[in-house]
Amino acid sequence: MQIETEAGEDGPSPRFSTFNEWKEFRSAGRGFWTQVPDSDWNSWHWQLKNRITTLHQLTRLMPTLTPEEYAGTQLANTKLSLAITPYFFNLIDPADEDCPIRRQVIPRLAETYTAPWEMSDPCGEDSHSSVPGLVHRYPDRVLFLVTDRCASYCRYCTRSRLVSNATGYDFHPEFDKQIDYVARTPAIRDVLLSGGDPLLFSDEKLEYLLSRLRAIPHVEFLRIGTRIPVFLPQRITAELCEMLRQFHPLFVSIHSNHPRELTTEVRDALGRLADAGIPLGNQSVLLRHVNDDVAVMRAHVQKLLRCRVKPYYLYQCDLVAGSAHLRTSVRKGMEVMDGLRGHTSGYAVPTYVIDAPGGGGKVPVNPEYVLSRNTDRVVIRNFEGKIFEYPEASDGTPLFRAPHRMEEPELA
Ligand code: SF4
Repeated sequence: MQIETEAGEDGPSPRFSTFNEWKEFRSAGRGFWTQVPDSDWNSWHWQLKNRITTLHQLTRLMPTLTPEEYAGTQLANTKLSLAITPYFFNLIDPADEDCPIRRQVIPRLAETYTAPWEMSDPCGEDSHSSVPGLVHRYPDRVLFLVTDRCASYCRYCTRSRLVSNATGYDFHPEFDKQIDYVARTPAIRDVLLSGGDPLLFSDEKLEYLLSRLRAIPHVEFLRIGTRIPVFLPQRITAELCEMLRQFHPLFVSIHSNHPRELTTEVRDALGRLADAGIPLGNQSVLLRHVNDDVAVMRAHVQKLLRCRVKPYYLYQCDLVAGSAHLRTSVRKGMEVMDGLRGHTSGYAVPTYVIDAPGGGGKVPVNPEYVLSRNTDRVVIRNFEGKIFEYPEASDGTPLFRAPHRMEEPELA
């Protein structure tokens, strides 16, 4: 994506107008679907039924498809299916080959290339599955997979081995066994429903599942991981929110990567969830030419707060097979984090993590703020690069000397 820049005191910075445009709330509009009655367009069932799922539909709606995308879409059904809701499709800029929305959902031929270090299950979930569909990696919490279906499919999906079933994984969760495992494991106090997307279930099915989990005395905390508010905000109905509010404390983690995904429709859907008392967090994946840029990410996190969503995690893209064209370096991720911390509200700053390849869990990765630790002080830098020292004995006990600006910055 081309970001307009202009020279400022601190080097190039995005044009104020571009940054402000990203932060504006706009409707996704109707695009090709102006003739569709409002009652259909606003129905989540209609949106799902009318998803773009074939090369034929895609070329008809987007004649600007590149050869790389054309070939990628031809092969998508052997790796990760193509599906895009009409609502989300309207966010794609057909004139921009590198549109950040387009890169996330339209297949490219590069998906068929696999580097030697890439894996089909980069987070080692299958090896941590005590029963099918239940990942127990951390001591007090479990990942409870409920489905392999999503409203649209993200081309970098960590679970592309199973979501959409294009590879024939044939995922069949067994709720009774999963719930039984949670019930007989008192250490589990936190259950995260994910998939696939749990909010694709009917209200009744979701209520059944949540009620059974809520009935387990040691389950203190329920979470739902979902990209539905972004792909299909029509699903966030008043009835759904009313049903969910019975299960507090219930948190919802959404998944949004770029400020343009935060439309008026998404803002309103998130507002309905927040009004139902549901704390909201966001998980972003750092993606090349999507959000690997300080200005894009700053606009995004600030806009999330305006949607009442706390930016929670920024993930380094997992080493999932066929995702190299969407990955960016850890160095770039740290540069993005450096451009957030101190430059915007602390609430807007997510934790940048790498999910350790093979199943090591989330490891936080931070730009270096502690420059050195000496026998009598810790030398730190702030967001402006200014250096300070904090007096402390090597064994961690406080010293009787006030911190002050370093007189000898070369010591750092
Ligand atoms: S919504 Fe989540 S589970 Fe579904 S394809 Fe995207 S990243 Fe994967």
